[in-house]
Amino acid sequence: MLADTVALQVTDEGAAAFLARPHGLSIDGQLDVPASSGDSLAVVDPGTGAEIARIAAGCELDVDKAVRAARRSFADGRWRRSSPFEKQRVLLRVADLIDARLETFAQIETIDSGKPLAASRGEVATAAERFRYYAGWTSKIYGDLNPGPTDTLTYALREPIGVCGLITPWNYPLLMATTKLAPALACGNSSVLKPAEQTSLTALLLAEVLAEAGVPDGVVNVVTGSGVDVGAPLVRHPEVDKIAFTGSTAVGKQIQVSAAETMKRVSLELGGKNAHIIFADADLESAIAAAAAGIWMNSGQACAAGSRLLVQRDVLEEVLAGVVEASSSIRVGPGLDPTSTFGPLISEIQLERVEGYVALGQEEGARTVLGGHRYDRAGYFFEPTILAETSESMRVAQEEIFGPVLCVQAFDTEDDAIRIANGTRYGLSAGVWSGDLARGHRMARELQVGKVWLNSYGTADMTVSFGGVKDSGHGREMGKYSLDLYTEIKSVVTHIGP
Ligand code: NAP
Ligand code: MG
Repeated sequence: MLADTVALQVTDEGAAAFLARPHGLSIDGQLDVPASSGDSLAVVDPGTGAEIARIAAGCELDVDKAVRAARRSFADGRWRRSSPFEKQRVLLRVADLIDARLETFAQIETIDSGKPLAASRGEVATAAERFRYYAGWTSKIYGDLNPGPTDTLTYALREPIGVCGLITPWNYPLLMATTKLAPALACGNSSVLKPAEQTSLTALLLAEVLAEAGVPDGVVNVVTGSGVDVGAPLVRHPEVDKIAFTGSTAVGKQIQVSAAETMKRVSLELGGKNAHIIFADADLESAIAAAAAGIWMNSGQACAAGSRLLVQRDVLEEVLAGVVEASSSIRVGPGLDPTSTFGPLISEIQLERVEGYVALGQEEGARTVLGGHRYDRAGYFFEPTILAETSESMRVAQEEIFGPVLCVQAFDTEDDAIRIANGTRYGLSAGVWSGDLARGHRMARELQVGKVWLNSYGTADMTVSFGGVKDSGHGREMGKYSLDLYTEIKSVVTHIGP
């Protein structure tokens, strides 16, 4: 299962040059602003644990500079007032420039986050498509003409919100930044982006691309640094109108509380403990392949990972054996090794957290049928792990592990499956496999989540909404739904008589 490894370096010249140079903040069109404190943070390759670069450690003062720059750019209308077609041209150029530097972005993303190169290439291509998709929306953001008394003419404008604070996690770095930035820009907003401290590099490269494509100075600013030193001040800042956050439920709750002080709008894409439900009448071959892919994707570090596998009792053993078999073809190794299909976890902290949960599951009475250990090698690698015989009362079946750990549980009836699936604090997504489509649609109505996959799992089409309910947050990103997150409605009422 383990790929042979040698010390791997990026081979792309652009990626090597980017890694070799100093990385400042990106504020008001300047791409190399040093942090006010002069401090920096180490950037680590999770595949080896080695330092590969340093980034600026921003602080409250830097956040303030960035927010002021964003505010100025919004106030004078240098982007907000540009025509929809000008915005479209610029966003299409962004997409083309990302495509032109696809390999550079992908190699940097891989060495920074650990994910296999093929996955990074796919995500970078998708990031370009996000800009193309929202470029199309710039000229299709309509307001309304209101029906009302005949002596009154009332229309609703759909306007940009103002300055948006965008805070992103480390699991899909460029993609999460783009999922927020592309619609924020399409709607005419100015932004300050705070990427996760572990994976900030592609956001800094993106800032270069945005400038090259013609996004005016100050419209997008990037402040790197920790959540406490950069994220929290961004949420508190009175000149920020909206926070879009993707990350953990714990931090999401803090953000919602903190944002109340300045009455900011908030959208929160938080954690998940997603039920992947297989009925005995399903196409088991496809369901088994999807169950394996649904948890091993990004080494389990995905909010939409199908981390709870609920299997109808009659086919439990068959499905379990199938998932173990499907997992035998995994090649574990650093992302830059082209044969790796399963990369490391992001950090030692994450590795210890996953290890702790596996030990807890074993204490709680779960049976380990695959994996269960870290690999004895450099980097933060953990075995694909399956815990069988889990139940709702166990913490491993309730809490988000955010690693390659699949918790398996049997159920008997449709009602049982719904009850177990809905029986956590989370409500992000779910999958249902059944040969009876009517049952699939019945289940879809009962599942308390933001997205249901029927006889499929884990696809992320750009036109489809994404987001959760309960502790998984609120607000829907992607597709036309992002337009609601990045625009404000203003009604204009005119008395026209008689
Ligand atoms: P996290 O610890 O919540 O961090 C997310 C971001 O918030 C990082 O940029 C972090 O900064 C920043 N942050 C931390 N404390 C903050 C504070 N007090 N105020 C403002 N910002 C703060 O989450 P993570 O560990 O990076 O990511 C994993 C979590 O994200 C998982 O729970 C996962 O389910 C969730 N996630 C959800 C989705 C979704 O769409 N629903 C997608 C991906 C991930 P630093 O890390 O730099 O300190
Ligand atoms: Mg890193």
